[in-house]
Amino acid sequence: MLRPILKFGDSVLHAPARPVERLTHEIDQLIGDMVETMYAAPGIGLAAPQVGVPLRIFVVDLSVGRNANDLIVMINPEFVEREGMQLEEEGCLSVPGFNATVVRPERAVVKGLDRQGNEQRLEGKELLARAFQHEMDHLDGTLFVDRLRGIKRDLIVRKIRKLSRAGKW
Ligand SMILES: [Zn+2]
Repeated sequence: MLRPILKFGDSVLHAPARPVERLTHEIDQLIGDMVETMYAAPGIGLAAPQVGVPLRIFVVDLSVGRNANDLIVMINPEFVEREGMQLEEEGCLSVPGFNATVVRPERAVVKGLDRQGNEQRLEGKELLARAFQHEMDHLDGTLFVDRLRGIKRDLIVRKIRKLSRAGKW
């Protein structure tokens, strides 16, 4: 089932998410919906708070569904390692129409549970490292806009407020 994606300004996006305590049928359903919603958007990553669920779960698929092996489901993820630095343009399904250059690690190792509840440890470089950091940020209530410096951030926030007042956000 497709779930609506919340946009910048919705309180769930701006608060830290809670750990998943038990892998229930509802959690599995949520993950299925997140994957479907990510592919439909289309996007390469989606975190549970983006569909209004304040739990520490994200999904990433750099192939956007073209390669079954590329789908990553992470439950209660934590960083094991982060190193280096990359600067690239980035966007977010919760901030449609806006992009900005964001500093991210060049390499990141994340551990957590997979959809079956097994421990997994995954290494990401370049775009995957960027996606890991972007989705981990969502679980802490941080959007890429919050990673920008003052003036750049203010400009985007002002435009969003304007769209919001016009009923276009
Ligand atoms: Zn995002």
